[in-house]
Amino acid sequence: MNVFILTDLEGISGINDITYMERGSEKYALACRFLSESIDLAVKTCFDCGAEHVYYLDGHGGGGNVLEHLIDTRAVKCDITGWQQLLSEGKIDCQIELGAHARAGTVLGFLDHTTNSRKYFCHKVNGMEMSELSMHALVCSAYDVPIVACIGDETACIQAKEYIPDIYTGAVKKALCRNQAVECENADKILTETVKNALDNYKNVSLYKVKEPAEIELTFYRTDMCEEAYSECGKEVERIGARTLRRKVDKITRYEELRF
Ligand SMILES: [Zn+2]
Repeated sequence: MNVFILTDLEGISGINDITYMERGSEKYALACRFLSESIDLAVKTCFDCGAEHVYYLDGHGGGGNVLEHLIDTRAVKCDITGWQQLLSEGKIDCQIELGAHARAGTVLGFLDHTTNSRKYFCHKVNGMEMSELSMHALVCSAYDVPIVACIGDETACIQAKEYIPDIYTGAVKKALCRNQAVECENADKILTETVKNALDNYKNVSLYKVKEPAEIELTFYRTDMCEEAYSECGKEVERIGARTLRRKVDKITRYEELRF
């Protein structure tokens, strides 16, 4: 069994307000430590469950968050290209989302957003609102790899089940409002048990597929943001409103096809 752990920062336990996101701050340094400790714990649990290879991706804000010296040396770090290469070569059996947050426009979702919190209002596939987890799941599922676990804030976990009803979830914190959260007691135990249960049953977790060709739609907060993105897009992208771009994808195989 080979496991891929795709990480984000917002849904890691201990990161309880928005100030932890400010790169360069003391709180951010602490956030990086919490993230790295959570990854290390997840990696060790995967190996304890019999994983042969464990890979991880530092997915928040283009990376640079993980303190690699804190991670179990048996794990291999990958970037997005490496992740998609492993998927296409059949080298991943299942994926875990660690540090997940709710999609843009969620009540009580800690730091809710979908890929770009400054520009993107709503990201849809075939009319359904996407979260980052569901976008990853579309790519993984193209290679018959299930996302078996979601570990993050409570609302992210509830939303994960909207896409993958039988996914294993571990809520390690709860939002009090958009920019504040409180961690759950026994967050580490919740993490390890979620990973264990998911890996014990990884062959039974559903893929997330949509009807293809698929229609990808992205709505920006402001018209100028849409204009700027549209000017950089190829001919295959349509501008269907002041703030919205649309693209048709015959068959989803790569993460980039879901982005603009
Ligand atoms: Zn993030």
